[in-house]
Formats: sequence, C-alpha cells, structure tokens
Amino acid sequence: MRRESITRPAVARPDEIRGRNLTSLLTLVHHEGPLSRAELTGRLGLGRSTIGALVGELDAQGLVRVSVPSGGSQTGRPSHVVGPHPDGPCVLAVDLTVDNTSIATVGIGGSIRRRWTSPGAADPLTPGLVAARIGAILESLGRQHPAVRPVGIGLSVPGTVDRHTGRIGVAPNLGWHDVDLRALLPPDVPVSVGNDADLAVLAEHIRGNGRHCDDLVFLIGRSGVGAGIIAGGLSLLGTAGRAGEIGHNVIDPAGPPCHCGQRGCLETFVGQDALLAAAGLPASGSGGDVAIVFNRARNGERRSLAAVQQAAASLGEAVAVLANLLDPQRVLVGGIFDRLLADQRSRIEHSLQARSLDTSVELQGPGLGADSALIGAAEIAFEHLLNDPLAVRGIAHR
Ligand SMILES: [Zn+2]
Repeated sequence: MRRESITRPAVARPDEIRGRNLTSLLTLVHHEGPLSRAELTGRLGLGRSTIGALVGELDAQGLVRVSVPSGGSQTGRPSHVVGPHPDGPCVLAVDLTVDNTSIATVGIGGSIRRRWTSPGAADPLTPGLVAARIGAILESLGRQHPAVRPVGIGLSVPGTVDRHTGRIGVAPNLGWHDVDLRALLPPDVPVSVGNDADLAVLAEHIRGNGRHCDDLVFLIGRSGVGAGIIAGGLSLLGTAGRAGEIGHNVIDPAGPPCHCGQRGCLETFVGQDALLAAAGLPASGSGGDVAIVFNRARNGERRSLAAVQQAAASLGEAVAVLANLLDPQRVLVGGIFDRLLADQRSRIEHSLQARSLDTSVELQGPGLGADSALIGAAEIAFEHLLNDPLAVRGIAHR
C-alpha cells in the first residue's frame, strides 16, 4: 500500500548510523583528548567491536592515533588509548581585533601548531587587507608543506555575524558594514565566521573554564565590549547574531560618542580606549597600551588608579545586567577584563552585588588566556570535518 510506505517512520541506513557514530567518536576525542577504548565504549554506549571498527576507520584516515600507554598495571590486556592524531588535519583560525590579527594553525584536540601575529597598521583594517594576509599565509604554508592544506578556515570578528549567511552585519570599531569576508577568500576551503565573544564562550565551554557549565557568559573587553552566551547548553546568538551586544547599551545619553553612532554606550566607559583615555594615554591604535595603565595603577599613580577603579565599577554593573537578564552560573571575563578582575576583584564584586538580584554568580578569567576567541574560531572551522569525518578522504594533510 502506497499510503503505508509514506507514513512509515524513517529508518536510518547502516551507513548513516556509522557516519553519526564516527562523528560522535571524533568529536569526543577532539573535545576530551586521549581516551581509552573502555572509556569510549562507556561514553558512547556502543559495543567494543563497534568502537574498534570506528577507531580503525578514523585511524586509517589519519584523524586519531591509537597508542598503548607505557607503565601501569602489567596484568591483563593493556587498554589502548585513542587520541587526536598529532599530524592529522589542521584548520586555520583567525582572531581579528582592531589592534592585531592573530592567525594560527590548530589541530584536532585544539592544539595550536603554529602562530602568526600581525600588529594593527596605522591604516584602517579593511576586509581586503585581512583576506590578503590570510591568502599570504595559506600560500606560504603551501610552499613550505605542499601536502598540508587546512580543512577549514574560522574567523573571529569583533562584530555581529549572521549565522545563516556568515555575513558580518556591523563591526563598529572596524567601520565595517555588511561585509562578506568569505567571498574574498579561496573558494576551495570552507570558511566559517563568528563573533569574538560568541566564539570565546564556545571555546571556554568546550575546553576552558566553562567546561560542564551550561549557563555561561563570556564578557570580552577589547576595543569593543560584547558578551557571548551559552544558555541551557546552547549558544544564544539571536535572530541576526546581535545577542550579547551589551557594549552598546547606553548607560549615559550625555556620555562620550561611540563608534556605533550613539552616545554613552557601556564600551565608552569600560572598553580599552575608554580606560586609556581616562588614564590620560593615547588610544590603542596610536600607541596606547592598557598594560601601562594597570602597572601605573598598581604603583599608586592616582589618575591610572582612578581609571582602573571606575572601569571595575562599570564592569561590575555590566555583569549585574547579564546576571539579572540571563541568570548564568558563571561569567568569564576576558581581554582587558581578565587583568581588571585580577587587580580589582573586590570592587567589581561590590558593584555586581549592589546591582544584581542574585549574588551567587561565579566570576572568573578565561581558561584559555587570550586565545579563547582564536580557539573558538578553530572550533567552528572543524565543524565540517567533525560532521563528516570521512570527507577528508582525498585531502592530503600529512
Ligand atoms: Zn555604541
């Protein structure tokens, strides 16, 4: 009967099940690092022989490496350990800021293999310039290691990103509006784009100080200020990638002008350039360095200390807004806020407690240091490979 065949529930074909299992296993090893076959069996709920076959396929593709740990118990069969292949495929991760561009090749497991940092130029950073830098690195990689071609490119940008199209909506501190960076890059490598705070929270959730924490916020303080949000274990990006743009909440309509066109946005009080200006130093693009402000404040220089204390109070208020709105378990603060937290924790917490209904939110710096957004860019670049591990067949990567 035709009708029966239409209403019959879909049954996954064996190759689809195998594909999903390969994805689950490789994703687990990518996120957790080396695991014994026994752990894989337990974590994935699959039989020993199935795990053995899946590991064999991923091993044959050069994606994982099976080893027998030395030492340990001499009795019984040694448990093989399955880890990311150190010479397996890599992605090219790019963390774009107003001050500099960090580019790195990152392997399965999140290890940074090689890194390039270009300081910001006096001229404005244009999409064409960024594409040219990435193109030059790909070309140099290709010359030095002809067999190595990254399996993906991930870009972290200080702006809003539409997750459906990958287009950058607005990056106020770069002066970019409606930019499609992907169109400027080589067409033979998949390119993924994300907002810096969104990628930072993703990376910290997978392998940083946000592990096992499903209600997590990353508040990033660079030239701009923005929040990346994980709610109930899922990324909260918004309709057009604008969720978490707390830096452009107006806290004083009579305040300083902001790159976004408004006045008195949060980032004009607590961003990197705001801190430099309050301490009487030039903006970061003109040679100012926030480390000088923090060092002077530690030595008791009055103007720098006042600037740092004011920024700490404003940061506490910003965290209170996030706490009242999202009720996160933990808020990680990165960029210049990491140092601000180290130097002014009590002032930040005092301000947070004065403005928040719930004072139990945990405040921490990032586990990945200054690399959260860079590693997050690598994570989105790896999605193609993790979703279809055997698609690397034919791509030389060793
Ligand atoms: Zn603004």
